Amino acid sequence: MATETETFAFQAEINQLLSLIINTFYSNKEIFLRELISNSSDALDKIRFESLTDKSKLDAQPELFIHIIPDKATNTLTIVDSGIGMTKSDLVNNLGTIARSGTKEFMEALAAGADVSMIGQFGVGFYSAYLVAERVVVTTKHNDDEQYVWESQAGGSFTVTRDTSGEQLGRGTKMVLYLKDDQMEYLEERRIKDLVKKHSEFISYPISLWTEKTTEKEISDDEDEEEKKDTEEGKVEDVDEEKEEKEKKKKKIKEVSHEWNLVNKQKPIWMRKPEEINKEEYAAFYKSLTNDWEEHLAVKHFSVEGQLEFKAVLFVPKRAPFDLFDNKKKANNIKLYVRRVFIMDNCEELIPEYLSFVKGIVDSEDLPLNISRETLQQNKILKVIRKNLVKKCIELFFEIAENKEDYNKFYEAFSKNLKLGIHEDSQNRTKIAELLRYHSTKSGDELTSLKDYVTRMKEGQNEIYYITGESKKAVENSPFLEKLKKKGYEVIYMVDAIDEYAIGQLKEFEGKKLVSATKEGLKLDESEDEKKKQEELKEKFEGLCKVIKEVLGDKVEKVIVSDRVVDSPCCLVTGEYGWTANMERIMKAQALRDSSMAGYMSSKKTMEINPENAIMDELRKRADADKNDKSVSRWMSMPCVVFIFSVEVRWFWHV
Ligand code: ADP
Repeated sequence: MATETETFAFQAEINQLLSLIINTFYSNKEIFLRELISNSSDALDKIRFESLTDKSKLDAQPELFIHIIPDKATNTLTIVDSGIGMTKSDLVNNLGTIARSGTKEFMEALAAGADVSMIGQFGVGFYSAYLVAERVVVTTKHNDDEQYVWESQAGGSFTVTRDTSGEQLGRGTKMVLYLKDDQMEYLEERRIKDLVKKHSEFISYPISLWTEKTTEKEISDDEDEEEKKDTEEGKVEDVDEEKEEKEKKKKKIKEVSHEWNLVNKQKPIWMRKPEEINKEEYAAFYKSLTNDWEEHLAVKHFSVEGQLEFKAVLFVPKRAPFDLFDNKKKANNIKLYVRRVFIMDNCEELIPEYLSFVKGIVDSEDLPLNISRETLQQNKILKVIRKNLVKKCIELFFEIAENKEDYNKFYEAFSKNLKLGIHEDSQNRTKIAELLRYHSTKSGDELTSLKDYVTRMKEGQNEIYYITGESKKAVENSPFLEKLKKKGYEVIYMVDAIDEYAIGQLKEFEGKKLVSATKEGLKLDESEDEKKKQEELKEKFEGLCKVIKEVLGDKVEKVIVSDRVVDSPCCLVTGEYGWTANMERIMKAQALRDSSMAGYMSSKKTMEINPENAIMDELRKRADADKNDKSVSRWMSMPCVVFIFSVEVRWFWHV
């Protein structure tokens, strides 16, 4: 039967990419094998997933495998898989006519000095075959179509032909690489084995290498050799002669045989005992799982047994990804397996959003293989797994915290996630709170935990004081801290926008209420004498308070005598239950804020004046002397008040 061959032109960008791959010198061409094996593994995942709901999909080729066949006679390296295969239109679209969005990006990345080994991340890994091959022939069979052959020597075009006469695959894809003259190393068994070990060790399908075995068989002519040996035993001097004689009689026959050699022998890493796995193995697994070029920071490998059984390996990376809080990218980095079968990549139900930076795998013994995304949400087993994963993640963070240097790295990268956890995860809130670290009035350059804060609390101190603001610099000289500092109370600096949300949920730690230094109602324990003195001052300054309130009108809710400022003339405080000034700043900065909410949450400010401040005392004197003169304009023109007020307001909005 005549088969028609169709010729297609490569899409322009793909063509450019191919020229680049062929004409540029790259030192690590070896990654082509990893890319092709990874494509095979993906294709196997796809057919296996389809077969979960329809077993007959495997009929054409029930076994799932990857075969590698080096052939020195033809200088070809062939990779065969029994994956899903490609229909004719898949072939035409996937291998040449429709450019991936990553095509251009990859070329730009290369131009900017990126390594060719990053090709897989840009979704164009197949073309890496041309790093080592001058011609590639792809034969493929999909359940829904006939067998087709794709062929190209790059150079602008490829052909697609229906394959009726060639060896039939049943199902899957065969890639034959006609190696370039200087790439014959990829026909060497040792080299291929090492490469698979290096880059594809964690592929969960058997990868077998077609190996040549040469055995030398010695056939002796002398049938009664054994008898001779027996009778001549003991005649030592004759032994050498005897040997030579025997060698002459022996015939050497070379026998060449072929056999499949399983290259990825390791059990999946999570099925092995943690105590038998070293750090390098975990690192290799982590890298293959995530494409990260750096090792992981910490790992937790565990199994849960009992009513429910599963195994898991969880990793904390060293860095936060650049798109950690990108809402569009609903990244979830836990792969779900069911009894060693890969089910899905991004199972959102497995881990809460605040832990989305944790990477790893979970292999459940209990879930049904044909679990669908829709049923996942209601699945009780999954809920239990999730609860366990969260618990283990938190345990892992505590383990990291045992090493200060590691924890600093971790905290810098992921503190926002912990704070989000405080906000979202009411069950683990108390535990996560122990992981928080802050600068404080007493911590110096180091960060302190709330636990350590509590151990340093002064006698009689019942509350944990904190101040929120834009930066450490902005809060550390705040007048709100004056009295607290004077009394020797430590104040925590919370300078992350998310602190406001987190602390709003946390409310207390180890039974100690968390109290904002900038809100109204800050009550500091005072002696009877101090209280009495305070009362007297309040009375003394009542007049001044009234006058200032009249001058400022609606700008402030009330004007009172402060017992928290020590040096500054005055400060503006917010209501106990509304937003802090910092929160107002954050909300104003957020375009999405609801203005109606801002109305009642942005609390009215109370102006607190410092009766012990010289300026205030002077003002009081004038106010008292001028009691009857209520002229607002007169007061407004008083430079001191205007100055104090404007400075204070400016400070206030800067915090
Ligand atoms: P990626 O694998 O990142 O999508 P590639 O350039 O490596 O990009 O492959 C392009 C597409 O070709 C794949 O998405 C897949 O649809 C198809 N493909 C490649 N290799 C195989 C294979 N062995 N079996 C089935 N389909 C394949």
